[in-house]
Amino acid sequence: MKYRFLILLCSFISCTNARKENEFKKSKVIVIQPLGDFKTEQSQLVFTEIKTINLNVVLRPNISFPENSYYKPRNRYRADSIIKSIKDNIGKDSLIVGLSNHDISTTYKGVKDWGVMGLGYRPGKSCVVSDFRMSGKNRNQQFYKVVLHELGHTEGLPHCETKTCLMRDAEGGNHLDEEKEFCEKCKSFLVKKGWNLI
Ligand SMILES: [Zn+2]
Ligand SMILES: [Zn+2]
Repeated sequence: MKYRFLILLCSFISCTNARKENEFKKSKVIVIQPLGDFKTEQSQLVFTEIKTINLNVVLRPNISFPENSYYKPRNRYRADSIIKSIKDNIGKDSLIVGLSNHDISTTYKGVKDWGVMGLGYRPGKSCVVSDFRMSGKNRNQQFYKVVLHELGHTEGLPHCETKTCLMRDAEGGNHLDEEKEFCEKCKSFLVKKGWNLI
């Protein structure tokens, strides 16, 4: 009798372990990839901020900007070339965000080289964010909010109507100080995609 109880107990434990493993497999990993001479204190800060809402974050050591991304006429880097290059360096359940202190640009509304704060595929695997166009005392806070905004797009989120939501459309202005977090609707979308949101 005692023996049978032991067997039952064992099978229960292995079942729980398998379930845990599955949950782990599904959860998304956010990879932070600082580019060029991006400041270490700043990437640490982004890492810490994202870790407070999503447990699975990896901070990688700096790598050079992809060689073909430099746009000499404006002394800046092409965001489209960057996201293309970094997307292949990650595992299946990961998203990667490149961080830049230099200006980044893309072709937008017929303009060949348009400076941007961030760019990402929607949906996709990679995005890139630059702090070059941010100013003011909340620069660090603003930076990590744009990082989350671009990661949200990369995961497939569209812009959101909620004024305090991180997915709010910039519409040519800067409302970042009014944005607090992902709203409940955007949060539940991300959780379904495997984000381990707290
Ligand atoms: Zn957006
Ligand atoms: Zn929202």
